[in-house]
Amino acid sequence: MSITENLTEIKSSLPPHVILVAVSKTKPVADLMEAYIAGQRIFGENKIQEMTDKWEQMPKDIQWHMIGHVQSNKVKYMIQYVSLIHGVDSLKLLKEINRLAAKWKRTVDCLLQIHIAEEDTKFGLDEQELSEILRSEEFKSFENIRIVGLMGMATFTENQEQIKREFLHLKSIFNQHQQLTTDNCQLTTLSMGMSGDYQLAIECGSTMIRIGSSIFGSR
Ligand SMILES: *Cc1c(COP(=O)(O)O)cnc(C)c1O
Repeated sequence: MSITENLTEIKSSLPPHVILVAVSKTKPVADLMEAYIAGQRIFGENKIQEMTDKWEQMPKDIQWHMIGHVQSNKVKYMIQYVSLIHGVDSLKLLKEINRLAAKWKRTVDCLLQIHIAEEDTKFGLDEQELSEILRSEEFKSFENIRIVGLMGMATFTENQEQIKREFLHLKSIFNQHQQLTTDNCQLTTLSMGMSGDYQLAIECGSTMIRIGSSIFGSR
């Protein structure tokens, strides 16, 4: 099936409140353009350099989401245009995003990444660290970022019960912190679910799914 057909099929199966991020990492601009022409406007990349190259070449009404792990020293390359940063997992990184966003007179939306998988190769905060960040005075002083939700990745496994347990765990953390609303924090977006597990993620409360291979083919 073509990229256009894949996109149409996935989109027609989604509940209206679920936002689709087309994960285009490693794919050429021609593939992204096909998705763009089919109406897709939100693209996810996991490397800042690659995302920036594509941003330069693609139409300017695209929303670019950084879904990979972010190093503080690279934030400067995307700060001008990035629309949502999914993988934020430290106060230090938030501070750097805030500092650079202020320079560009922007407010940059971020998701805090929560570690829900059993592998320790996946980045993210635990519940305790999340609470500490959201309650800290330093965080409350950041005026050029806005935490709009949480992001997580389940363990890479065939075990659906385990994946479901991990998604429900993230959903419960999301619910518990929803009342912790401040000027720069309102948890409305729950980014969870990829090609292999997005239906399950939606059942468990996801509002944003990140789909790569089911749209663009395997990498
Ligand atoms: C690559 C990637 C995806 C998409 O994975 P697929 O299995 O190709 O849909 C989603 N989220 C993150 C964080 C990724 O790195």
